[in-house]
Amino acid sequence: MAGSLLPGDDGRRALRPGGDDGATVDDGDRVHLRRCIELARTTLDAGDERFGSVLVDADGSVLFEDHDHVASGDSTRHPEFAIARWAAQHLPSDQRAAATVYTSGEHCPMCAAAHAWVGLGRIVYDSSSAQLGARPAPMQAPSIGGVAPGVPVEGPVAGLDEEVHDLHRRFHGS
Ligand SMILES: [Zn+2]
Repeated sequence: MAGSLLPGDDGRRALRPGGDDGATVDDGDRVHLRRCIELARTTLDAGDERFGSVLVDADGSVLFEDHDHVASGDSTRHPEFAIARWAAQHLPSDQRAAATVYTSGEHCPMCAAAHAWVGLGRIVYDSSSAQLGARPAPMQAPSIGGVAPGVPVEGPVAGLDEEVHDLHRRFHGS
């Protein structure tokens, strides 16, 4: 079970904004983080960019998943943004707050803002943006904490981050 940050949580999941190296990520989290990498690999194989994300409810059930669709020509079609919009359309606010978004790469500022605007809960990512190097972007690119300081964030996760880096290198042909 993925668990979530609900009132009464015993504090095992410390609210450290990033950089905890996966110390509070459990086996249930890793299942979803691996699915993100599968989605990322699928979209890269299909000629699109290389990120995948999963929305999971407080009981650990997958509600929605997506990957990049930016090869369509629309650079806003990141999976984390799609998750925020799906959640806004389908979940009441209490379920959004209790949900976790898993993603292969740390949310970009646009997606972090969308996540915060719709009131989603915890974010867990395999690789940080800093590890991947800045995604070329027409804007400044602070970390999730710099955009949405109220969102609990965990990542990068040792071991899984390397798999994301491999996809990143493949995308860049190096
Ligand atoms: Zn994004």
